[in-house]
Amino acid sequence: MDFSQIKSIEDQHSVGVYSKRPIAIVLGKGARLFDAEGKAYIDCVGGQGAANLGHANPRIAAAIAAQAERLIGLPEMFYNDVRANLMDRLCGLTGMERVFLSNSGTEANEAALKFSKVLTGRNRIVATMRGFHGRSMGSLSATWEKKYREPFEPLVPGFSHVPYDDTDALDQAITDQTAAFIVEIVQGEGGIRPASASYLSAAQKICNERGALLIVDEVQSGMGRTGRWYAYQHYGLQPDILTSAKSLGGGIPFGATLLRGGLEKIPPAVHGSTFGGNPLACAASLAAIDFIEEENLLEKAAENGAWFLNALREIDSPLIREVRGLGLMIGVELKQKTAPYIAQLAERGILVLTAGMTVLRFLPPLVIERRDLETVAENVREVLRGSI
Ligand SMILES: *Cc1c(COP(=O)(O)O)cnc(C)c1O
Repeated sequence: MDFSQIKSIEDQHSVGVYSKRPIAIVLGKGARLFDAEGKAYIDCVGGQGAANLGHANPRIAAAIAAQAERLIGLPEMFYNDVRANLMDRLCGLTGMERVFLSNSGTEANEAALKFSKVLTGRNRIVATMRGFHGRSMGSLSATWEKKYREPFEPLVPGFSHVPYDDTDALDQAITDQTAAFIVEIVQGEGGIRPASASYLSAAQKICNERGALLIVDEVQSGMGRTGRWYAYQHYGLQPDILTSAKSLGGGIPFGATLLRGGLEKIPPAVHGSTFGGNPLACAASLAAIDFIEEENLLEKAAENGAWFLNALREIDSPLIREVRGLGLMIGVELKQKTAPYIAQLAERGILVLTAGMTVLRFLPPLVIERRDLETVAENVREVLRGSI
């Protein structure tokens, strides 16, 4: 099928919730994507954060194939060897103690919110302005963006939003009624905004003092994206609950909600998921973890991220308001809408995300080579300086 055939069929049958770009991607390899006409792109969309391991990673493909021939699905009413290994690895990487497995970021957060209510016996949740936590009704109630929320109101009661990175506002919002404060270490959808270290340690302290749980949402910033397994590890924080998804399954759907030691267990039957800890996703996730370790992707993300951030900061263009980031999670905030620049970059064979209307967002697979980042930086410079 060529592009126009693919497009017309999808346009006919899709419910319409996605505004799609005029490109049909049919193949991937590492940090490259290929369209139906065979044109190659350097991928800085990175599956919106789900492709940290690179496309069609042979190591992960082999693990999925091998596990698929052994056992694909198994509800958590039975124990399983692969799941046991994965739980142990995840807790080893994070220092957390217990894991609930699911299939997506919104589910990981949904579980975190429910667990925080069960564990504290309280029912208020504090979230942040510009925060994004997913689109199911509970996680959506913690999400800030009006256009995602308004069509579905009334949402779950008891949620409030405070300005991000504002310690005083948080201090006023967290009370003895608060079950949890949910926060991203680096806001992703909200425009690639890293929190300050002082804010995060204050949040930890305020939550501890008032018996509220600190839920750290690392659905986007996790699995090596920022140069550590999880971004909170840059700051010496101890989340009470940590959520992970996107790249957790090496590219296939997976989510995890991790609880620190010292918290009570969650009572049986209070929550669950049919596909939750399925061996297929667990095997893919284990292969992803092995690959990140063997290829030193944490160091690579830190080094390439620092280089790329600096290269983007060196672009001298009146269009740029600010360049922000941590590791390979980078945003270039413009003084105008990103759409025309994203289209120009795609013409030049570079795929870039947006965050809101004005932030160019870069989430390349962590396997991306420096020379590809050089190409991206050079092309961003050219389109933002209008020199073609
Ligand atoms: C993408 C994202 C989610 C939602 O994940 P889905 O898998 O799309 O449900 C939640 N939190 C953050 C920080 C995200 O970036």
